[in-house]
Amino acid sequence: MKANQPENEPPESEFRLTNEAQAKLDDFFRCFAGAARPSLLLDYDGTLAPFRVDRFKAQPWAGARELLNRIQSQGRTHMVVVTGRPAQEILPLLRVEAAPEIWGLHGAERLHANGRREFEQLSPAVRAELDALSAQLKRDAGGGLVEEKPNAVVMHWRGVTPARAKAIEKRTRALFEPAATNKGLNLLEFEAGLELRAGRDKGGAVTAILEESSGPGRHPAAYLGDDLTDESAFRAIKGHGLGVLVRRQPRPTAADVWLRPPEDLRDFLKMWLHACAHLQSNLYDPLLHSR
Ligand SMILES: [Mg+2]
Repeated sequence: MKANQPENEPPESEFRLTNEAQAKLDDFFRCFAGAARPSLLLDYDGTLAPFRVDRFKAQPWAGARELLNRIQSQGRTHMVVVTGRPAQEILPLLRVEAAPEIWGLHGAERLHANGRREFEQLSPAVRAELDALSAQLKRDAGGGLVEEKPNAVVMHWRGVTPARAKAIEKRTRALFEPAATNKGLNLLEFEAGLELRAGRDKGGAVTAILEESSGPGRHPAAYLGDDLTDESAFRAIKGHGLGVLVRRQPRPTAADVWLRPPEDLRDFLKMWLHACAHLQSNLYDPLLHSR
């Protein structure tokens, strides 16, 4: 690691975008010329910030906050964070100058930029079922971390040994899978855990956001995410915008482009800034953006 390298950042890699990925991005950003307000939809953990076992320490990648601030200060982008966390956890970590809209709990909650909150209320029966399962999990978490959300109960096993993770997953599935057959509850798999939940998923959130921003003219939109829970969002944006998998390693995905954080993420945000600067002028030139 270089002496001046931020603590959160992995070593510089030799990775650069493939020609195919670069061509897709250039096509996407050329569409900004003459377009209406573009939508930038962003997952948080693993996408804008590296994972931390203590999720309250997950700070954005070096340089990401500054680029988001510059995009916000241009005033041309509709920026939305779409996260599995409760929405109010994001702003103290993101610490950008102008709050974006945040869809929390995988889309079941919406926190507007002005602070107004909308939440899909659960039926008392669903709430009681989630509470009972949470209590059962906590009695023997086996080294995993139980998280209670307003619409869900979650078991995390990031950071434990593979053998322990397997045991925690087995026990969690035994509790969650029968409950997931109940009306109104769904099992959501992510890379180091399982969530049993009710309400809209990220794909539903993306569809709702895109519907709201539709109207005359072209509306460029991109969704950036890393986890299995982002796949519904990648499917939802297909045909309407660009799905971007942000991850150190590729995997089978419905996204259109793979970017490796943090370098490629920063490049993408710089391209976004450059394209927005030329929204009215038909001047997007892929050779001009600084890489
Ligand atoms: Mg994520």
